[in-house]
Amino acid sequence: MVEQASSLTGASVSACSESAGGALAQPTAHSVSSVGHAVTPGPILLLGAPGVGKGTQARELMRLWAIPQISTGDLLRANVSQGTELGLAAKEIMQCGNLVPDDLVNRMVAIRLAQPDTLNGFILDGFPRTLPQAHWLDAELAVRPGALPIVAVSLQVDYNLLLRRITGRRNCPVCQRIYNVFLQPPQRDGFCDVDGAALVQRADDTETCFQGRIGNYQSLTAPVIEHYRAQGRFAEVHGDREVAAVAAEVISAVERMRSGA
Ligand code: AMP
Repeated sequence: MVEQASSLTGASVSACSESAGGALAQPTAHSVSSVGHAVTPGPILLLGAPGVGKGTQARELMRLWAIPQISTGDLLRANVSQGTELGLAAKEIMQCGNLVPDDLVNRMVAIRLAQPDTLNGFILDGFPRTLPQAHWLDAELAVRPGALPIVAVSLQVDYNLLLRRITGRRNCPVCQRIYNVFLQPPQRDGFCDVDGAALVQRADDTETCFQGRIGNYQSLTAPVIEHYRAQGRFAEVHGDREVAAVAAEVISAVERMRSGA
């Protein structure tokens, strides 16, 4: 399985991952550009509930610092769609947003982190999601030669907006563009503006699944936030603003934490 996963882990590194639900999914014209270049970013964790905008912000940081976005959701979905052993094991579990076992996800992340494009840093989006995953990651990075310490940014968005972002999200299966039927609808209902493909909704983006995902988040992932808060090098950023405004704050938080201020 490791070999199969290995061949897939590079496939979707910079592909779309969880977006903020459409309104925030596309880069803005006045996106970040003039700050942050001087910093060696190192390992960055983007933490927060489903729909908070981790994927969107990860792509902003990726563009600025030329480091990979590593979305465990994307990597798992790639494994599912390619029918790998990992994908077969994960498929049912992911159907409504339950968490894939730690050892499977950790192994997948280990393979991805071993790729050379992670040397100057990387953005983890959707990982760690449990305390055992966090402890595993801490131990893994501790033995990585020359690795900078982790910096963690937790994004926060009001529950009702999260619900709209998740349940309104629609994806183009062809170009991967993300829309939101409430916040950023396509020009023609149900079809992609770019290529006219019929938009699809992720099976776990329904309201019922959202409740379960938030429940998992509160019981399993919220302790991860406390773990990194307690370690220092931790910042909280409000995600209910324009992409560029949120990104500017995330970037200055990372720079501040990297400079030890
Ligand atoms: P996401 O795209 O981040 O919402 O992830 C989609 C789904 O993949 C989640 O609902 C989980 O089923 C699974 N998943 C993603 N990341 C993890 C993780 N770190 N641990 C366990 N399961 C995960």
